[in-house]
Amino acid sequence: MNVLVINCGSSSLKYQLINSDTEAVLAKGLCERIGIDGRLVYQKAGLDKEITEAPMPTHKEAIQMVLDALTNEKTGALKSLSEVDAIGHRVVHGGEKFAKSVVIDDEVIAAVEECNDLAPLHNPANLIGIRVCAELMPGVPQVGVFDTAFHQTMPAKAYLYGLPIEYYDKYKVRRYGFHGTSHSFVSKRAIEFLGLDKNNSKVIVCHLGNGSSISAVVNGECVDTTMGLTPLEGVVMGTRSGNIDPAIMEFISKKEGLDIDGMMTVLNKKSGLLGLSGGVSSDMRDLEAAAESGNKNAENAVDVLCYSITKFVGGYVAAMNGVDAIVFTAGIGENDGKVRKAVVDNLGYLGITLDEEANKKRGEDIVISTADSKVKVAVIPTNEELMICRETVSLVK
Ligand code: ADP
Repeated sequence: MNVLVINCGSSSLKYQLINSDTEAVLAKGLCERIGIDGRLVYQKAGLDKEITEAPMPTHKEAIQMVLDALTNEKTGALKSLSEVDAIGHRVVHGGEKFAKSVVIDDEVIAAVEECNDLAPLHNPANLIGIRVCAELMPGVPQVGVFDTAFHQTMPAKAYLYGLPIEYYDKYKVRRYGFHGTSHSFVSKRAIEFLGLDKNNSKVIVCHLGNGSSISAVVNGECVDTTMGLTPLEGVVMGTRSGNIDPAIMEFISKKEGLDIDGMMTVLNKKSGLLGLSGGVSSDMRDLEAAAESGNKNAENAVDVLCYSITKFVGGYVAAMNGVDAIVFTAGIGENDGKVRKAVVDNLGYLGITLDEEANKKRGEDIVISTADSKVKVAVIPTNEELMICRETVSLVK
């Protein structure tokens, strides 16, 4: 089957066309600056990237351009659109309504719409992608794969906040967690790759990218995760603060004369590694370079990140009463051996030892703990698009 995977943002759209039998990516790319001017990046497997600047007033023109590129006579990956067998959409927030991926119909669209409140920037964009695909490719089955779904197995003690319960009852204020597609993909792969018994396994997945989250997975099911009602909670991230004392909001807003929107901008866009480093960068590579050349703020930012990860990992070991494997993924998790070492070195009390040579390798599934380490540590590159493709196929086949 050919599956078109779509990840629709408010002004951008990422896509991949995947052959589900071979799991090969036939073509991929993105549309940027939708509603501003418009730029299509298209790359057929084995060929160079093509970049086309063209007006994209709405997502409809953007998706039409993707479909035209996919069926282009010279560089298209398909002869005609009839070769698209199914479409898989990333949907950010499924609230408590979606614990699994679903085939999209009118009822599902209405239920996703009801979750818009919880992800006002993302869900409406995801829905536009779904509606436009239905219009441009009528009859092709569409599947929604939710960032929150994998975490729906968390027990109440993990998802309830210490707030008046009426806010949960009335507004469903609770921990949902995000990056679920990645946590699901990586934890499943870890169990397989490390030869663990799925029904008797405790795995911690550290998804560390621009946005970062950590999850605790027992017997293949998520029991806790660091992101919350929104992706702001948890580990220190590129520009997001992660956990802070909530009273800091009042304190800073009074000192700086900020309203709630201004405060949220600080916490989402100006904090984390960027904020801690005094504006040096939100990118780990820049920070490590700056730290090496003596920038104390950059050094502190890296230390705060590593310490923050370590505390969550340690907390999840306690929450699960043990751990069989700790797995690193996403941009920092897959590439940054120094961060992995800093985290693992602090967990020596668990009998974990790092294989320093293996920790230098990149780009593949790899065990980075020594053979006698009591807990396995691995790097597993995430692949959310492939996971969305697999979910889509399992529902439409
Ligand atoms: P997103 O959350 O946007 O998908 P990614 O998973 O691509 O982000 O991760 C981006 C982060 O990964 C950035 O902080 C970047 O610096 C970091 N990163 C990528 N490559 C490396 C590398 N070789 N060494 C250290 N950090 C890296």
